[in-house]
Amino acid sequence: MNINEQMIAFIEKSPTAFHAVKTIVEELEIKGFKELKEKDTWNLEKNGKYYVTRNQSGVLAFVLPKNVDALSFHMVASHSDSPTFKLKPKTVMEQEGHYVKLNVEGYGGMIMNTWMDRPLSVAGRVIVKTDSGLEARLVNIDKDFCMIPNMSIHQNRNANSDMKYNPQVDMLPVVGYGKDEGKFMQEIANSANCEVEQILSTDLYLYNRQKGVIWGDDNYVSIGHLDDLQCAFTSLVSFTEASTKEHVNVYCCFDNEEVGSGTRQGAHSNFLSDTLSRICKAFNQDVEAALAGSLLVSADNAHSVHPNHPELADPTNRVHMNEGVVIKYNASQSYTTDALSSAIFMEACKRADVPYQPFTNRSDTRGGATLGMISITHVSVPTVDIGAAQWAMHSAYETAGCKDTEYLVKSMKEFYEMEFVIDNMQVTFK
Ligand SMILES: [Zn+2]
Repeated sequence: MNINEQMIAFIEKSPTAFHAVKTIVEELEIKGFKELKEKDTWNLEKNGKYYVTRNQSGVLAFVLPKNVDALSFHMVASHSDSPTFKLKPKTVMEQEGHYVKLNVEGYGGMIMNTWMDRPLSVAGRVIVKTDSGLEARLVNIDKDFCMIPNMSIHQNRNANSDMKYNPQVDMLPVVGYGKDEGKFMQEIANSANCEVEQILSTDLYLYNRQKGVIWGDDNYVSIGHLDDLQCAFTSLVSFTEASTKEHVNVYCCFDNEEVGSGTRQGAHSNFLSDTLSRICKAFNQDVEAALAGSLLVSADNAHSVHPNHPELADPTNRVHMNEGVVIKYNASQSYTTDALSSAIFMEACKRADVPYQPFTNRSDTRGGATLGMISITHVSVPTVDIGAAQWAMHSAYETAGCKDTEYLVKSMKEFYEMEFVIDNMQVTFK
């Protein structure tokens, strides 16, 4: 499989943040990483490879160097979640004795109409009552299972002019099996391998069943969740393939970026700072000194110039798919890139023979923030915001450039392998 086919396989195994972390952990295990638990005391070994998860939906992994006398961190962070709809606790709604619908609410800023008229299904996590206590189990109704039907044009003449969607009215999916209200939880119980009565609570989400495709003479790749699983995947490949150097390489995939990161498994938590402190403590190192020589790459996708709406892009900082890794700048620091952090990442790109392109929003448009700016409130290191250019961000089906997947892997691998010393504003490459 080429790298984009591998990415499609990765994303299709990852319909929710829980499944994304499971997919990442499986790959880390194959590559010889050992699991650490936050509740345990950590006995870390030089040259060791470890990972730790939180809430089953955030994961940090790191590779320690041979020489641990002066630690510093080369970190890449992405996010495991994507905009979707979450099923409410009492989710089953009967409609006129003819249909069963699911009561859902929005998670993050999705483009609502992209979720209509396509096969969807439900995946996530349930808490199961067992003989000994409670157990979290991942579930996936792995079949075309439900649909959010559009209104017909005859009943809704404004569909192409000024349609507004009300999530409580317009976005409730109909399940495909007629009027049996009990059947939905039975499907979930089957997937959890337990009885319906054993399921105490759920974290369940809709996901798009449409398969990923590579199209247009292998130029483009389309699938849901490219934001941000394209970066979660490519940074994982670069992280696991990079050879060990004199610093600590860190892979971060946080949850809940799409809803502000403010959870204990999000970037706005102590997950990363605690982990870095524990690494330093294990080798009697000063975490403050280690952070002073460290750099964080915040990897999240950016908007390519839209072929039908070129006016939406900045007049001079216009990025295009398949033309290189995007480095994002913002004067108000919604992107954390500064002149120094971008220059270090540009050096990695140059060494890897990867093109790069600067991105800014138009001055009259507010863009999205990234987890970089949130993370540095806890781990204050120079940070650079990068990503791949894509179309239709937060659609249920997004499009990116195939070459950019390769560019991300190569540039981040070089960043993980590159040796440099940061001494305030002075950087020395080794
Ligand atoms: Zn994102």
